[in-house]
Parts: sequence; structure tokens; C-alpha cells
Amino acid sequence: MRLEDAERVMRNLSEAFRGRYPSGYRQVGVNLGLHLTGGEPFLNPDLLLDLVRMADRLGMPSLFVETNCFWAATDESARESLNQLKEAGLHGILISVNPFILEYVPFERTLRAIRAAREIFQANLMIYQEGFLHQIERLGVRGTIRFEDYLRTAGASSMYYAELLPMGRACYELRHLFPRHPAEDFFCMSCRAELTRPWHIHVDNYCNYMTGYCGGISLGDARRMDEICSGIELDDKPILARLVSDRGIELLYRFAVEEYGYRELRKGYISKCHLCVDIRKHIVEQTDEFVELKPEGFYRNLKAEDAVS
Ligand code: SF4
Repeated sequence: MRLEDAERVMRNLSEAFRGRYPSGYRQVGVNLGLHLTGGEPFLNPDLLLDLVRMADRLGMPSLFVETNCFWAATDESARESLNQLKEAGLHGILISVNPFILEYVPFERTLRAIRAAREIFQANLMIYQEGFLHQIERLGVRGTIRFEDYLRTAGASSMYYAELLPMGRACYELRHLFPRHPAEDFFCMSCRAELTRPWHIHVDNYCNYMTGYCGGISLGDARRMDEICSGIELDDKPILARLVSDRGIELLYRFAVEEYGYRELRKGYISKCHLCVDIRKHIVEQTDEFVELKPEGFYRNLKAEDAVS
């Protein structure tokens, strides 16, 4: 994302926040203010600093960054990175802790970042999910551990409190953790509530406005957020139009079967979002005509699955 685009998005956001937060609001919360997230924002620390400075200049409330802590290689460098961000105007930090991150990020780095963040951001440190932090500490994990080994060691019940949304890539990578259902079990559902919710929205690197967690569905260009928020035209967004209708999932399914030869997955689906994303992936592989199916890279990086005849 270019800085001038980020600034247009942030200006829109600061307008939307006006009057909703007291001036100088610094308390952090997962559904408050502005968070910089990913992917992993620390992969581009210079861009992260620039964005924090920009957000600070625009008076963004509850400004925090989410991270997996891969960067916390030493105590000194961890403190230095966080101090720099705090000086640039960052209010707080959310540290992600779960067995999926533990596959790639040594636990020592997570603990190091937590220590540094506690010192620098104090009460404005959030650990998500704290239950996993204690669970991993109890298991005495050092370094990284494969998810399958974690499950074997900690048992399936260790995932009981995981806030694991069966959406996006998780539908393919973690489908073995969920029961499956035939497509028709989801036909009565609509996504109107999810696609029109006015809170916890995301903007991706390409300026796509995404409600909640519906990866790969763009409501439009977030540089023109005021236009999106005043109502969007559905005539040129037939996928979106179907999803917000009554029985939207059935409408999408029938459209994909009739127009694009979609075939139901033999083993079924773990959620309505699994069915939805599998259909969208199938369509994107054949055409780029749907402006609401963005970014294209999201679909390219999903794993394929067998279909039934
Ligand atoms: S089914 Fe699709 S549109 Fe509906 S909530 Fe899931 S991902 Fe979003």
C-alpha cells in the first residue's frame, strides 16, 4: 500500500471516528479504534512506523498493532522496536499466542515480546489468547512445535477455548478438526448481517474494504469509504447481491453450479463460509469479471479440494 493511499483511508476513518471517541482516547480493546494487523505488520517495520506516525497525526483513537512476535530475537532489540513505536504514537499492542503461531515462532520470542510490551505499554498490552499462553507454559514448550505434535501432547481438549473461525484458509488447512456437512445444510442462511456490520472492518493492502473476516470479498475501495458507507450498488456485484439475500448461500450455490459448473465437495463443508469460499475460489479460477471478489491473490493461495460428481 502506498503511503498516500493509506492516508486517504485513514482520513476517512478519522472522520468516521469523530464524535465516537473522546479526544486523545488511548485505551485499547480488540473492537476499539484502529489496529494495524496482517499478515504480520513487523515484516515491514519502516512502513509500520510510517503508518503509526500518520495515525498519530490524525488523532486515531485506541491505536494498536497485532503481532506474532517473530521479530523479538533479543531483549534489547525487542525493547528498542517497541519504544520506537511508542514514541511514534502507538498506544498499545496485541500479542497473538496460539498453537498455530507456535509452529513457526519460537515460544521464547513470544515471552520476550510480552515482557518488553508489559514494560513499555503496561495496561495497553493484550494477549490473545491468554489461555494458550498458560497452556503452552504448562506444557514446557521450547522453540517451535508442529501443530499435530501439539495436539498429541496437549490433547484435543486443549483447543476447546480456541476462538477459531471456520473461514478463509482455515477451511482448507484445519478442516480435519471440524465435522462436515452437505452443502444443503447451509442453504437457508444469508450473510446480510456479516456483510453490513458497521464495526470491526478491515482494509487490506490493496485498499479493499472488507467487513469482519470475509476474506476475498471487497465491498469497494476504502479510499472512498464514505461512498461505501452511504450504500453500495449491487447491480454490478451479483455475488454480493446473492449473499445478502434471504437464502443467500443457496442462491450462490445454484448460480455457481448453473453458470460455472461448480461441483459439491465429496466430504462436505465445515461451515457456510467453507462452502462460500470454495464456490468463490472456483469462480475466480474461471473469470475475473466479479469486482467484489478481491484480492485475487487470496484465492490463489487457497488449497484445492476434491469434488463429487
Ligand atoms: S458465508 Fe461468505 S459472506 Fe457469509 S460470512 Fe462466511 S465468508 Fe462471509
